[in-house]
Amino acid sequence: MGNGSDDVLALAFQSFFNSDLPIVYPDITYSFYPVWCRLFGIEYINQPLDDSFRINPEDYRSPNGGVVIPNPNAPTSIGEGPEFVTKIMEYNQDSVVIIDEAYVDFGGISSVPLTKKYDNLLVTGTFSKSRSLAGMRIGFAIGSKELIDVLEAVKNSYNSYTVDSLSMAMGIAAIRDVDYFNSTVSKIIATRTKVTQELRQLGFTVLDSSTNFIMATHKDRSMKDMFLYLKSKKVFIRYFDLPRINNYVRITIGTEEEMQTFINCVKDYIKQ
Ligand SMILES: *Cc1c(COP(=O)(O)O)cnc(C)c1O
Repeated sequence: MGNGSDDVLALAFQSFFNSDLPIVYPDITYSFYPVWCRLFGIEYINQPLDDSFRINPEDYRSPNGGVVIPNPNAPTSIGEGPEFVTKIMEYNQDSVVIIDEAYVDFGGISSVPLTKKYDNLLVTGTFSKSRSLAGMRIGFAIGSKELIDVLEAVKNSYNSYTVDSLSMAMGIAAIRDVDYFNSTVSKIIATRTKVTQELRQLGFTVLDSSTNFIMATHKDRSMKDMFLYLKSKKVFIRYFDLPRINNYVRITIGTEEEMQTFINCVKDYIKQ
């Protein structure tokens, strides 16, 4: 357990990514990975996603100092199945592989069962997304006893304080309330399906999402302009001025009502 999965991931980077070889992760992915690499002096290589933003497991075959992949990936929203993770594990038997499952509850397939088979697989998770408890800072990692023992040893050598007791109580209550969890997650998935269909009807290309956000583009429209237009109407989505995704936007799924406001604004933008 740690104070959010960022805390657990940073600890795992420090603990496991310290060989002479660079670590590997996708070119379009969670923006914190390069931050930790620079902070901890870890060399890294980025493997490009293919043209449909999928991760090719064959790109992760060469010797490396570790692998980190979010599954589902962010900001693409695309999830890969167990065959994908199994391939990654078969190709990487000499380094630690971290699968970051921040969004898994929104339609991804968890690799936790594979941690029984591969003792170099560490799966991280968070209460910040599907359990809506970002402010409580609850994250965790699941892996073999060997990996967890190393994480504990590294953590206890500089900060032996645990997640605070209020957060632990909240976390336990959240896990027990299965009905509430299922109902909120399924609401988000239903709203995601609806928004995806509406955007597609308006001519957008929307990637198939397994997360609580969608990634969309429009062949005739500037997504940067749309982002700025929506911002002027106080509807906040995300735009990344980065290679390959600079004509995409990332839209987090809110309530039905919020998403209706969003769709109305998009229609106004398209009409102008
Ligand atoms: C949100 C997120 C995290 C970390 O969230 P915490 O609030 O620190 O638990 C980790 N990885 C990805 C890909 C995320 O989107």
